Amino acid sequence: MPTSPAGSRSAPPDNRRVIPLREPSLIASWHAHVYFDASSREAARALRQTIETTLSGQVVVGRFHERPVGPHPMWSYQLAVAAAEFSVVVGWLALNHGGLDVFIHPNTGDALRDHRDSAIWIGRSHILNLAALGG
Ligand code: ZN
Repeated sequence: MPTSPAGSRSAPPDNRRVIPLREPSLIASWHAHVYFDASSREAARALRQTIETTLSGQVVVGRFHERPVGPHPMWSYQLAVAAAEFSVVVGWLALNHGGLDVFIHPNTGDALRDHRDSAIWIGRSHILNLAALGG
């Protein structure tokens, strides 16, 4: 295997970049976006009803969008979660999301970084439309 001569290494790929640390106290709240489409609409509606009953007082449930909105490539609804409720809500979703995918991001005041760099997925991940956030 050939070795590179000293000094000829190219710049490391972007995923090795050292990122300045950010304080978790920047996180004002979290969003969990439940994704669905025409084929999973009824499962999404049923999960939403269960969430409204079971997580009442721990989430604020947003509108049921039967079209892609903002950076979300699927139909979706939003759950707004206070920072202090993250553990119980995300734990509940991890155990009870069924076949639905859930995109979770913090809200730090920098929407592009929150969606692009700080995503958490339950189920499968999707490619976001970051152009909707100026990305
Ligand atoms: Zn969101």
